[in-house]
Amino acid sequence: MAEYSVFSLLKNAVSGNRDWKPAWRKPDPKPEYDVIIVGGGGHGLATAYYLAKEHGITNVAVVEKGWLGQGNIGRNTTIVRSNYMLPDNTHFYEHSMKLWENLSHELNFNVMFSQRGILNLAHTPSQLDDYARRGNAMRHCGVDAELLRPAAIAKLVPGLDLSGSARFPVIGGLMQPRAGTARHDAVAWGYARGADRRGVDMLENCEVIGFLRDGDRITGVKTTRGDIRAKKIAVAVAGHTGQVMKLAGVDRLPIESHVLQAFVSESLKPFVDTVVTFGGGHLYMSQSDKGGLVFGGDIDGYNTYAQRGNLPVVEEVMSEMVALFPGLARVRLLRSWGGIMDMSMDGTPIITTGPLPGMYLNTGWCYGGFKATPASGWCFAWTIAKDEPHKFNAPFTLDRFHRGILIDEKGQGSTPRLH
Ligand SMILES: Cc1cc2nc3c(=O)[nH]c(=O)nc-3n(C[C@H](O)[C@H](O)[C@H](O)COP(=O)(O)OP(=O)(O)OC[C@H]3O[C@@H](n4cnc5c(N)ncnc54)[C@H](O)[C@@H]3O)c2cc1C
Repeated sequence: MAEYSVFSLLKNAVSGNRDWKPAWRKPDPKPEYDVIIVGGGGHGLATAYYLAKEHGITNVAVVEKGWLGQGNIGRNTTIVRSNYMLPDNTHFYEHSMKLWENLSHELNFNVMFSQRGILNLAHTPSQLDDYARRGNAMRHCGVDAELLRPAAIAKLVPGLDLSGSARFPVIGGLMQPRAGTARHDAVAWGYARGADRRGVDMLENCEVIGFLRDGDRITGVKTTRGDIRAKKIAVAVAGHTGQVMKLAGVDRLPIESHVLQAFVSESLKPFVDTVVTFGGGHLYMSQSDKGGLVFGGDIDGYNTYAQRGNLPVVEEVMSEMVALFPGLARVRLLRSWGGIMDMSMDGTPIITTGPLPGMYLNTGWCYGGFKATPASGWCFAWTIAKDEPHKFNAPFTLDRFHRGILIDEKGQGSTPRLH
């Protein structure tokens, strides 16, 4: 299998790039595995990798209905951060950040992790107070955070409208310098290759269409490539959680599926070298290495499995962009697409054993599952291997919704659009 180094680059350069090996095998399904992971997105692939690497469990299959990385892992706006306020979230996402910081070396795959920082803009005094509180909470947990005044913001993001006549005047901002972006496809490919190299089977074009059971216990999956048995079945299908869990007879979950759109502009000269978020609405943007502005806003606000969105949200996001950066008003939008989000009812994920014997569930990532990919895989692998959660995902239970112990980061209740 392919190994990347300066020597392999040079060797392939002189041989016309004809000798690159495939990054992973294309095996046929075996009749039985120790673990089956349903969903070849970032979380499923990272789980397979850490199961093999951290726990020595290599008789594993990742079962994906299309091609690896066709879902949200390849559709997001690539923001990575750990700027949360509630300790349960802070410790989990900071664990993820630490894994990100060594990921390219660990996977021998350049995931282009760029710690260019994230700046949350504040437009009212109460919002700035709120950011100061969040920044203090982050620092208390050992996470980097700085409160910035408009003068510092002007140096950092010269294109911003910081004038007094701006539609939403900027009065400060919260910066997490270690936050940034990464190349989403590379993350999927890197984890897939790392897991494959340790013996995990990647079963593409293999849709789960039902579950095998022995009484209540789940003992395998029915797929479009035949029945496959396993001692443990882990589900990590993001926006399709409701559909897949219904196949197992679980038809009520605290998850809604919504479309979230992303946008890319035509290429511009270097214009902004940090991630910027708007505090007067919902907009997050960065500039890619190719020069395009990569940005997004709110979910469309209705339940759907369609991977494309509607024009009102396009209009809303563009108007927010122009309110912040009037100089971009004539820049052309190059392309947009959508992904199906697994919106949980408190905005916090679920990584747990159950809800049926033999089953494990990973879902509820809302707008923010890309940055969680390493920690989600790491914690889910631990949970599957040991049949109990790690301390980082112990709070992310399913029954917190029954017990009323919600992890409501923004205090906005069960309204997916506000998470
Ligand atoms: C437009 C957009 C912007 C985003 N921006 C950010 C961001 O900036 N930062 C951030 O942290 N997060 C962001 N996210 C969220 C993040 O992308 C997701 O939370 C995360 O990728 C979800 O986990 P995943 O990668 O495993 O999901 P996916 O990649 O969707 O993986 C799930 C897989 O399951 C497969 N599957 C479904 N049903 C079946 C079946 N029956 N049988 C077999 N396989 C099945 C699917 O084909 C899919 O490949 C964004 C998402 C979108 C859509």
